[in-house]
Amino acid sequence: MKYYILFGPPGAGKGTQAGAMAEKFNLKHISTGELLRGEIAAGTPLGLQAKALIDAGNLVPDEVVEGMIEDKFNTIKGVDGFLLDGFPRTEAQAVALDEILERRGEKLTGVVSIMIPDGMIMERIRHRAEIEGRADDARDEIILNRISTYHAKTEPLIAFYKASGRYREVDGTGTIEEVRERIFEIM
Ligand code: AMP
Repeated sequence: MKYYILFGPPGAGKGTQAGAMAEKFNLKHISTGELLRGEIAAGTPLGLQAKALIDAGNLVPDEVVEGMIEDKFNTIKGVDGFLLDGFPRTEAQAVALDEILERRGEKLTGVVSIMIPDGMIMERIRHRAEIEGRADDARDEIILNRISTYHAKTEPLIAFYKASGRYREVDGTGTIEEVRERIFEIM
């Protein structure tokens, strides 16, 4: 099985690119953000617990998303692999992912990192807010908190994965098609 991480700051275009990547390589796209929004919409206890954190632009506890990922690995069949979008987001989650994969006798295939400058994040998210209506896209202060959370907690994972030799970066600026071609080339 293939295990890819789709990495990048908020607004880099992970969700936009994931569908084409999943289709081309027969991967199941797993977005922890989407799963959490599903829990909120369904009004589950987990959703209720996560909502305030997500709406404020903070991360939910590591154990919550780690459990979701392992559950999906265990239950989804009929694909050649998985495309993780928005996970891992902390070093603890990255370590947990390694452990989950080890229990399965598997290894991470690679990290595809979509990079855009900070200055472009706000503009991309404001555009997305008009289309998707996400609560955490609606206010600049929440977006700024997500950007600083990314820098503080998630960006250190770049060094973590570079050290493993499985990290590849693409330029996330330009058209959707241009970025898609860059991604396909490195995959
Ligand atoms: P996303 O759709 O990836 O932008 O995620 C939306 C929100 O869900 C994030 O701002 C976090 O509050 C929460 N979230 C998604 N994935 C994770 C994760 N791996 N760890 C912690 N929180 C997460």
